[in-house]
Amino acid sequence: MNQSQGQASGSSRFSYDMLEFRPEWQFDDPDSGVYYHSAAIPGKLFFTSLGGDVNVSAAQKGIPYVERVFADGVFDNCDYVRIADYSGVNKASINSRLLYANTISRLNTEYNCNPVVTYICGASQMLKAMLRIFSHVVNQNFVFVDIVDEAFRLINKDNPEPVSPEKEDVVVSRREIDDFAAVCGHLLFENQGIECTECDFYPSEHPLHELYRIIVLLRNDLQELRQKEKEQSRETKIALEDARRLNERLEEEKRKAEEKEKIQQELIENLKKARIQAESANTAKSEFLANISHEVRTPLHAVIGMTELLIETKLDKDQRYYTDTLYSSAKMLLMLINDILDFSRIDAGRIDEEKEAFNLRQLFQDIISIMKEKASCKGLVLAGDMDEGIPDTLIGYSGYMKQILLNLIQNAIKFTYRGQVTVTATAVSETEDELVLKMTVQDTGIGIPEEQQDQIFQPFTQIDASSTRKEGGTGLGLAIVRKLVSFMGGEIHLESSEREGSTFSFSLSFEKVKNPGDLVAVDMADAKSARNQSDVSEGTAERLQILLVEDNAINQKVARAMLQKMGYKIDIAFNGAEAVEALRQKKYGLVLMDLQMPVMDGYEATRTIRSSGKELDSKVPIVAMTANATKEDRQQCLDAGMDDYIPKPVERKVMKSMLQRWLPLDEER
Ligand code: ADP
Repeated sequence: MNQSQGQASGSSRFSYDMLEFRPEWQFDDPDSGVYYHSAAIPGKLFFTSLGGDVNVSAAQKGIPYVERVFADGVFDNCDYVRIADYSGVNKASINSRLLYANTISRLNTEYNCNPVVTYICGASQMLKAMLRIFSHVVNQNFVFVDIVDEAFRLINKDNPEPVSPEKEDVVVSRREIDDFAAVCGHLLFENQGIECTECDFYPSEHPLHELYRIIVLLRNDLQELRQKEKEQSRETKIALEDARRLNERLEEEKRKAEEKEKIQQELIENLKKARIQAESANTAKSEFLANISHEVRTPLHAVIGMTELLIETKLDKDQRYYTDTLYSSAKMLLMLINDILDFSRIDAGRIDEEKEAFNLRQLFQDIISIMKEKASCKGLVLAGDMDEGIPDTLIGYSGYMKQILLNLIQNAIKFTYRGQVTVTATAVSETEDELVLKMTVQDTGIGIPEEQQDQIFQPFTQIDASSTRKEGGTGLGLAIVRKLVSFMGGEIHLESSEREGSTFSFSLSFEKVKNPGDLVAVDMADAKSARNQSDVSEGTAERLQILLVEDNAINQKVARAMLQKMGYKIDIAFNGAEAVEALRQKKYGLVLMDLQMPVMDGYEATRTIRSSGKELDSKVPIVAMTANATKEDRQQCLDAGMDDYIPKPVERKVMKSMLQRWLPLDEER
């Protein structure tokens, strides 16, 4: 393109219809109304049509579509003519113009092409002014025409008019330039709040009109920028303030959470302390009760023992009445003391029993037969039924089982005046190692009002004091039962209706005995067979002679009176050492040995006797008298070499049956 600028090369003529509008080159932004339509006659002509309010962000969106035209290889390595139709542009910012012009310039370099002339169609005065400014920046040759057809006409014209804008001399006075400078300064720096329109100062025919409009445009862009900057800084400030507040709140929340945790910790600590205090207070109370009851039992037994002896003497009618009352009151008191002792021991966590293999069926039958007599005295039927399938021997707490069943059956008989009491044991579930049994004690008695059904498990609670007074009772039985059942892993339940009767039930798990032959339950009563009784019970004078080893004066008196009454002769030793000495001096048929004594206790004394060889009768039967009849105590007695034990304080009938075993009187033999 050298001989005629803007003319199409060769003789070919171009027309609008020859343009190729590829869909991928067309950009329409429905939000802003901006469009960038591109078309081409490949290698020859690049047509663009722009419209809308073109600001920078709208221009940025349109740019890729223009880039695509070049990327499609339409203008690689060629000279081309460009037509840009700006008739649809309402407004264009300088920055958007700059962006577009720079993009075209970059694409020309990238694809090695050159727009020999650019026809600008329908541009406003304003746009024209701007393009003129940019023409040297982007190195383009602009020809301004009114419509697109005009551009085609000029391209196809054999002798085009010169494309450079007409040179026109304008005269501007020194004063006008000074005024203009003042107006510029005013616009750009001082009057930022005022919106400047097309031309406030210079009419359109004035030579400075266009320049003035560009300044206005620049000023508006500047203002927009300043405004944006302000907004951004305000937003940043707000965001910073929000972040600061958020941080403060977080700190506050953190502090509160820490405080809460501290309070919680303190609370837990206090609760722990309170629980420990309560537990130790409860344990101390229970231990105190246990000790006191234990101590009270000794003199009480003396009262009972002596009263029993007194009853057997010759008494007149009044004396008999007094002693009978004394006897039954003392028995009642003993029952109360025993219950308190039991309850406080269990409450203090002093569980004396250990699990052992025991014959549950035998225990069940024994209890039923013991209680049958009591029931029939009241005209009641006592029935016991245990599932056939339940194995005889199981592992559990036999003593506690007995205590629970006796308590419940005694109550059932006590509070039933007509009908029957039924005791059942049924298997509920079974595994290889375990068997769960449900026990129930059902009566047809007075029943318990619903609102009192919970209370009766509290210690010292009785519903009807009058019937209880009639029947006797401490109000501790069910409290003990509940504690024992729960200790063994069960829970006691009650169903009852007034005047219809009550059913107490509980389920407990028992271990099964794998090899019943391997387990030998310790029963000291059987120990007799293990010893050669003939050694000690040959019919000599000393056979009826008993050595009582006991440091407590009351116990001595009771035992002596009992034994003498039964026909035995008694010597007393105050401790183990005295007993060993006494045995050296004399032969005895039996030694009744207390365990806790000063100087030498019962265990040591027994060991000394058993290991004395020929010095004394080392095989004399020794029967312990122990206040705590736990399995451990019994085992300790056996280990020390004793033959049997009786619980202290000694009851007459217990003493009697023990003596029948070890030192029967001639008539009993
Ligand atoms: P107690 O030694 O007085 O019998 P318990 O703790 O064994 O003490 O029983 C508390 C109270 O519960 C009894 O006094 C009685 O009022 C009530 N009670 C217990 N068992 C029965 C029952 N089978 N029928 C009716 N009332 C009962």
